[in-house]
Amino acid sequence: MSDEAERQMQFLYALRSRGVTEARVLQAMEKIDRGAFVRGIFSERAYEDMPLPIPCGQTISQPSVVGLMSQALRVNPRDKVLEIGTGSGYQAAILGQLARRVYTIDRHRRLVAAAQEVFTALGLANITAFVADGSHGLPDHAPFDRILVTAAAEDPPGPLLAQLKIGGIMILPVGQSDTVQTLIRVTRHETGYDYEELRQVRFVPLLEGLGQD
Ligand code: SAH
Repeated sequence: MSDEAERQMQFLYALRSRGVTEARVLQAMEKIDRGAFVRGIFSERAYEDMPLPIPCGQTISQPSVVGLMSQALRVNPRDKVLEIGTGSGYQAAILGQLARRVYTIDRHRRLVAAAQEVFTALGLANITAFVADGSHGLPDHAPFDRILVTAAAEDPPGPLLAQLKIGGIMILPVGQSDTVQTLIRVTRHETGYDYEELRQVRFVPLLEGLGQD
């Protein structure tokens, strides 16, 4: 077996053993090369199940967390999805395989530009990245079938709740930064919202306004 095939097998095995079992999610993660989203000295660790540093003091999430969040979001092929926290663009690329259309927002211009470059290089044409404060959502493209937030807020931001379709699902980590946060699933009904706690996670904080670079 080639080194690459072996590496791929171990990558998928780690995902399965941590609970990523949905076929569509595994296929997406098999197809999208995480190595394309990690630059510099950490690139050789791209296939390990760990978070890694990316520019602007941010992190690309652990692959198993990307898989579990994508699974928890229950994405349908016709869905329009909003992601808050583009970071490297890896999670958006996975969502792009599961959904019809993906909009992703980050407060750092530099991260958005780098992610957009990778989307173009890989021919991922159904993803668009924007520089903006994601806590306001993306009113011009709302409402969304699914919303995924990859930075932790103390509470679900009101504009994001408002931009979810009836029947829509939002997954987000809530809690204080620097401590363990809880990943929750919010489902919007005709008359309100349901909240379910899924697991403990640790994300960088959702910050206000735009970043310096
Ligand atoms: N999903 C990313 C990892 C996200 S790290 C990936 O797959 O690589 C969290 C990201 O959220 C960081 O890039 C950070 O800049 C961004 N972020 C934090 N607060 C934000 C806000 N208010 N609006 C938009 N992005 C925000």
